[in-house]
Amino acid sequence: MDYNKLAELIFPDIKGTVGELEERFPKRDLPDGAKVTRFAPSPTGYMHIGGLYAAMISRKIAKQSGGVFYLRIEDTDKKREVEDGVNEIINSLKKFGLEFDEGPFEGSPDVYAPYKQSERKEIYQICVKALMKKGLAYPCFATPEELDAIRAEQEKLKVDIGYYGEYAIARNYTYEEIEEKIKAGMPYVVRLKSPGVAGNYVRYTDDIRGDIDMPENIMDVVLLKSDGIPTYHFAHAVDDHFMRTNQVIRGDEWLASYPLHKQLFEVCGFEQPEYVHISPIMKAEGNGKRKLSKRKDPEAAVGFYQEQGYPAESVLEYLMTIANSNYEEWHAANQDKSIDDFVLSLSKMPVSGALFDMVKLNDVSKEMISTFDADTCYDKIMDWADEYDKNLYEFGTKDKESFIKTIELWKMSGNKVRKDVAKWSDLTEMFDYLYVPDDALKFDYEVDEKYTKEQLAEVINEYKKDMFLTSENWFADMKVMGEKLGYCPNVKEYKKAPEQYKGSITDICTIVRVAVTGKKNSPDLFTIMSVIGKDRTEARLNRFMEEACK
Ligand code: GLU
Repeated sequence: MDYNKLAELIFPDIKGTVGELEERFPKRDLPDGAKVTRFAPSPTGYMHIGGLYAAMISRKIAKQSGGVFYLRIEDTDKKREVEDGVNEIINSLKKFGLEFDEGPFEGSPDVYAPYKQSERKEIYQICVKALMKKGLAYPCFATPEELDAIRAEQEKLKVDIGYYGEYAIARNYTYEEIEEKIKAGMPYVVRLKSPGVAGNYVRYTDDIRGDIDMPENIMDVVLLKSDGIPTYHFAHAVDDHFMRTNQVIRGDEWLASYPLHKQLFEVCGFEQPEYVHISPIMKAEGNGKRKLSKRKDPEAAVGFYQEQGYPAESVLEYLMTIANSNYEEWHAANQDKSIDDFVLSLSKMPVSGALFDMVKLNDVSKEMISTFDADTCYDKIMDWADEYDKNLYEFGTKDKESFIKTIELWKMSGNKVRKDVAKWSDLTEMFDYLYVPDDALKFDYEVDEKYTKEQLAEVINEYKKDMFLTSENWFADMKVMGEKLGYCPNVKEYKKAPEQYKGSITDICTIVRVAVTGKKNSPDLFTIMSVIGKDRTEARLNRFMEEACK
């Protein structure tokens, strides 16, 4: 067969050469050891937490080595693509502080552009044409029915399933046969003519897994689909070569494809990058574990953490503890340093899927939030609320001063820093009396079981006469008021002779606290009342009277 003639028949319009591509996309001029890594998602509009994890690791490896981290869009599957998917990826990673050095966005350097696979069709075709000229690629006209028949035969014979060797019928077509089919308009794909030999092994080595021996690829895989668009495998070889990636970091679902990828780099004459296959993030289920699933687990989506209001720093820090379990120790010993100072080690990454632990994420996040000062919290809460909680946003923008006071209220208890809040949506859950509109506030009415209606009404009515909103000495004033109504100001004394009193100062405070906050426990009540103000405090007392004292 005259392979040159075949290549011209299949690709009459492709004039470029691989040599020209080598010049157009020169080797990167970077210091020794600098890693060029990439994040290569499909623009499906959905970002899995595993994607964020991989992006974080890839970026870190590039940055800590003085290399480059770029975004490549794998949009060869047009069916799964959503409008604006690319911007969504860029923006959502930006929110996590993960910015790209290069990619399909304005302002990016363009030496290695285009960064979208759909715009690189000619590049792939140049490479396939070169392979065809070497007799390493051929058109295949097999119909789905023919492929099914091959499969059925292989199942019967109990041999490897696939398109290879003697089963690869299109391998042996003559030029004339091919020309005839092309002229007849038969659709075709272009396949690799695999030089692999059954029984041979290739060695795979990565920093996480060490050495693994795998059977050499013998399959004549598809390089270009019938629309001329490459498969993932072929695009991977071409793109990572010409974008000069030297460290591929990707999910371990690709590990089994390594022998094929090794072969593709070899037949194309490309130097192979290093690989690391990261294990997926798992979820405990029964006694076992499974991958976090897009379909079943809301927490599989990055959007979940954004909606809940986890600060980006918390999510990244938590993911870092999964990536390198020594991160926590490092962090404890280097409190003054930031996550950017930590040196990530690929060899310390977990080999089998790490469990996603929501409790741990919450702990990491509580710790993180406790390190933010009130102004930082304010900015972050407003950013979040602007998108996810309009009431909260309105409160914060209308009265920043009061809002800052509310933050101080849950952040500090005396001069001790509290660690209660893990995510911004906790605010309305835990501190609804500060943050939700008054009519949505729920009262914890168990008090009406302990006290009589008359008792409640008496306390509230007395309290309403003077709400001590400006008092420096709220608690002392409460004691005075209680005493007047027959409540002992001293708890110890009360316990000695409870029959002499209606209750103690604790009862007085509890009743007022429930009326104002709806809860039996809260941070300093006086401060809460100063934040919500006299009118709203009064309105709550009235509502309490109406609902609990009737
Ligand atoms: N688009 C592929 C994926 O999302 C990329 C894999 C890779 O990083 O090479 O799985």
